[in-house]
Amino acid sequence: MSQPATMAGHWVRRYFQIPLIWKFAVALVAGAIVGLIVGPPIAVIEPLGELFLRLLQMLVVPLVIVTLIAGASSISPVQLGRSGVKIFIYYIVTSAAAICIGIGLALLVTPGAGLDMPAADAEEPEEAPPIIDTLLGIVPENPFTAMVEGNILGIIFLAVIVGIALGVLRHSESERMRELGEHVRRLTDAGVQIMFMIIRGVLEYAPIGVFALIAVVLGETGTDALVPLASLTGVVYGGVALQIAFYTVLLLLIGASVRQFFGAAREPMMTAFVTRSSSGTLPVTTRAAQKLGIKEGVYGFSLPFGATINMDGTALYVGASTIFVSQVAGIDLSFGEILSVVLVGTLASIGTAGVPGAGLIMLSLAITQAGLPFAAVALVAGIDALLDMARTMCNVTGDLTGTRIVAKTEPGMLAEPEQQETS
Ligand code: ASP
Repeated sequence: MSQPATMAGHWVRRYFQIPLIWKFAVALVAGAIVGLIVGPPIAVIEPLGELFLRLLQMLVVPLVIVTLIAGASSISPVQLGRSGVKIFIYYIVTSAAAICIGIGLALLVTPGAGLDMPAADAEEPEEAPPIIDTLLGIVPENPFTAMVEGNILGIIFLAVIVGIALGVLRHSESERMRELGEHVRRLTDAGVQIMFMIIRGVLEYAPIGVFALIAVVLGETGTDALVPLASLTGVVYGGVALQIAFYTVLLLLIGASVRQFFGAAREPMMTAFVTRSSSGTLPVTTRAAQKLGIKEGVYGFSLPFGATINMDGTALYVGASTIFVSQVAGIDLSFGEILSVVLVGTLASIGTAGVPGAGLIMLSLAITQAGLPFAAVALVAGIDALLDMARTMCNVTGDLTGTRIVAKTEPGMLAEPEQQETS
């Protein structure tokens, strides 16, 4: 082999040896510094970040399908029903807790005090779909349309049904049926392994994508973006820290090792922070669940479901930002109105996709419900990307915590965690 080729091979090997977490951290800091120094022209490297997002997005639909079919078929239909109900209750309760934290902190810190209302030329954000449409949308009219359109709830519904049918086949009285079931089961297992292999490859590219994403955001907004709304930013970031502390308490209560949990969770947390998409982070969250020794019978359902309906960070942000807007507008909300913000925020999170900026749509919904001036949404929209980073990180941590809790309560759903890899 020629000298340069050997050298290149050497560097590639060295790159693979560096723990992923370090590569992420260096990429994050370097990206921020380069973005701030270069400014808007840094947008030329945007495709590098876009490539990372696309690689993740590409994996979402096939990953949800194979892990859900494998997951739902691996346990008895009764057990699936039990863990499904548990995770649903956990998701609703933690989202309500998160929105209360957001509201409480904003009332305490009053981030909106001293700020004037902006001009009333704010862009009208899209309206969130009515809850009933979201519920009906769970049953896809056409499975292929659901896949093409990335209707995750529809895909979840379909894959769970196929998985349950496969589970029934595997536990059938007839030997022929059992045999057929086992064949398909082996196929889906292979599918899951193939997905994980691809995910590992994508994660090796991730640091480059992270560098580009951070550099472009900071290059375009500069430090100015942080100044006027620093207080709201502090409230949302502080709230997210509190919510994560709340997860830690829950983990301690079930006797889980917090160190082990966050050792595995840091990769999806970092990925969510920079991609601002919990759906996009799903492949990485799934890998973390696997590292924790959780069986696909739980995570195969709870993670895609959580990435779609469980958004604690978003709920927290909606609570804090609604109070912020009311303070900016000089309107005092009554207790009843605050309660309705809690309700609307919690319910609306079910219909919001795990994609960047989706929370802004929810915020618009809450603002309208609370009868607050719409123009003030523009204020929050200015720093939305920054807030989206923290809330998305919180969203995926919440999904993984719930998954870990349910796995603990279901017999046979928790194996020895993988040796804590550093890459
Ligand atoms: N970006 C968030 C997520 O993907 C949703 C939001 O905008 O709040 O979870």
